[in-house]
Amino acid sequence: MFDVTDKEKQVFTGFVNQLVKWSKGGETPTNGNQDTAYYLNLQKERLQKKGLRLQYDLRERENFEVHGTTKRSNKYTCTMAWQSFFKKTSIFQGNKRIYQHKDNELVYGIVTSMNQSEMTGEETYVCPNCGGVSTINQLFKGCPYCETRFTMEDLYPKVTNHFFLRDYGQNEKEMKAMTIKYVLIGMVICCIIMLFLGLMDTMKGREFNLSSRIFKGCLIGGFYGLLAVPLSLFFGILKDAIKTLPILSRTTGTKKKITEILSAYDNTFSYDHFVSRVLALLKMIVYSYDRTDMPAYDKPEKGPDYSDIVESVYRGAMALKNHTVENGYCYLELEVIMVDLCLKGGRIKRVEESFFMVICKNIEKPENFGFSIKKVQCKGCGASFDATRIKHCPHCRSEYELKEDDWVVLSIWRQ
Ligand SMILES: [Zn+2]
Ligand SMILES: [Zn+2]
Repeated sequence: MFDVTDKEKQVFTGFVNQLVKWSKGGETPTNGNQDTAYYLNLQKERLQKKGLRLQYDLRERENFEVHGTTKRSNKYTCTMAWQSFFKKTSIFQGNKRIYQHKDNELVYGIVTSMNQSEMTGEETYVCPNCGGVSTINQLFKGCPYCETRFTMEDLYPKVTNHFFLRDYGQNEKEMKAMTIKYVLIGMVICCIIMLFLGLMDTMKGREFNLSSRIFKGCLIGGFYGLLAVPLSLFFGILKDAIKTLPILSRTTGTKKKITEILSAYDNTFSYDHFVSRVLALLKMIVYSYDRTDMPAYDKPEKGPDYSDIVESVYRGAMALKNHTVENGYCYLELEVIMVDLCLKGGRIKRVEESFFMVICKNIEKPENFGFSIKKVQCKGCGASFDATRIKHCPHCRSEYELKEDDWVVLSIWRQ
């Protein structure tokens, strides 16, 4: 374990701000990696097609700063950073708000850095195809001289995965506010009951002492209000624990198992980096409609219909169901638990659901160390295209097989 650096904190905080701005119509977060930018764009398209607008509002909570833990593999350094916010998620249809969820939530971000790499993107690079000189950032969009496309690693550090979880922690100020609220509610309710009982008594001809009734009401109500504070906190946590326990029992040990299987083939394996890729694959598939030309989906068909999902958030856990290694390819069957916002009959429903997916990768090819840039050339006609986003060569329709270089999804289903 290492300490979280200021740079990593900055990348995380910057990403969170950019994400909020993005939700309010701003540009796609530049502190996120290429995959994150890609699925956020798909999500925005999905929302626009449905005439919806998703909006995050975050308010910092006092005494809740950025925390984090850092893990280092031979190639990547992954820091899980988190901060507690009061988070409001709203969905608008035109000007009408059709959904709102308010909570204290922990916002998590995985900040990935590559060891021994300090590139900014403004460095110049000689195009491996034509020899023309341009910056790395320009090459991301294709060589400006010969238009050759490349697959490139992200210029780290970037946020490669993010998610939100409910936070039960309370600071002193919030605790006080909550106590005052509960005590006042208790007093009001008890006073109303006392006055009502008093009125019943006067009907029977007994004397009605207003000040004594109110005094008793406040005393008893205040007492029960005070008692309700720890009880409500306790039952809130208990409710969440009951929901979380079955998830924990399914997912415990997954990290260890996957690390064991994959680090045998790749001594640079990083679990956090792997999870980021799996989540990116899942979100690309969830937010897209036609996947016939998506390199991450290794099937010649459109795939299942998930078009009701407008927001999909990782629940922080996944489970390994099965695994095999055959002819140099590794196959993993995973269960990934998500909290989704689904549009059904004009209403938004919040549901926890599992996605089961079989993913595959060639594990015999050695991993590249450091920054890698590879020319994408069609095996059929020699043309160059963006093989990270389109599977078939636009000139001759030959297929580019991403599973030779990265994880792809073979099948996916939802439960
Ligand atoms: Zn070139
Ligand atoms: Zn071609």
